[in-house]
Amino acid sequence: MQDITYQVGNSLYINLTNRCTNECVFCIRNLAQRFNKRYALWLENEPSVNEVLAAIGDASRYEQVVFCGYGEPLIRLEAVKSIARALKQKNKKTRLRLDTNGQANLFWGRNVLLELKGLIDKISISLDADKDQKYQEICRPNFGAQAYPAVLEFIKQSKQYIPEVEASIVDLPGINQAACAKIASDLGVTFRVRPYYEETYVS
Ligand code: SF4
Repeated sequence: MQDITYQVGNSLYINLTNRCTNECVFCIRNLAQRFNKRYALWLENEPSVNEVLAAIGDASRYEQVVFCGYGEPLIRLEAVKSIARALKQKNKKTRLRLDTNGQANLFWGRNVLLELKGLIDKISISLDADKDQKYQEICRPNFGAQAYPAVLEFIKQSKQYIPEVEASIVDLPGINQAACAKIASDLGVTFRVRPYYEETYVS
């Protein structure tokens, strides 16, 4: 038993993968049993594109459809593109948001933002810290010292390809929120502080 999609408010979230290139100290994946009683978001098998489209059904019932998951959706880049393309072909007004840790260009070794152009309406990128040292401490990236500069560059580049770009942090003690907000402002994107725990995982 696993849930491929889950609803929060008027948004439908797609749970594509549990894999991620970070191991954040605050990741709800570590606390799945305790904090997700309503949905079974730990995937035994990653869903196929057709399974996801079937689980979404009529996307016009939702304000937006969000690629989020328990893990990093862009690890399944081809699936994100195929699902987004199918939803947009069905109804070009379907609003699509992507929540990401911003390491996809590093992971894939190319600019994947180019491939998302015209498919994703809004991208929300986890900035999570104002300095590399803090990022290492709380996000524990598999890419080590390459990760934080890559996230900053990803935020900067996103503006060229995605209509709305947001940088976010988690509301945790020890995070310099003002400094993070300034980084977002300097990069020319909006800024959001995410609550630490939500009923379901909303990256
Ligand atoms: S980037 Fe998101 S999914 Fe990945 S470890 Fe951090 S909180 Fe979890």
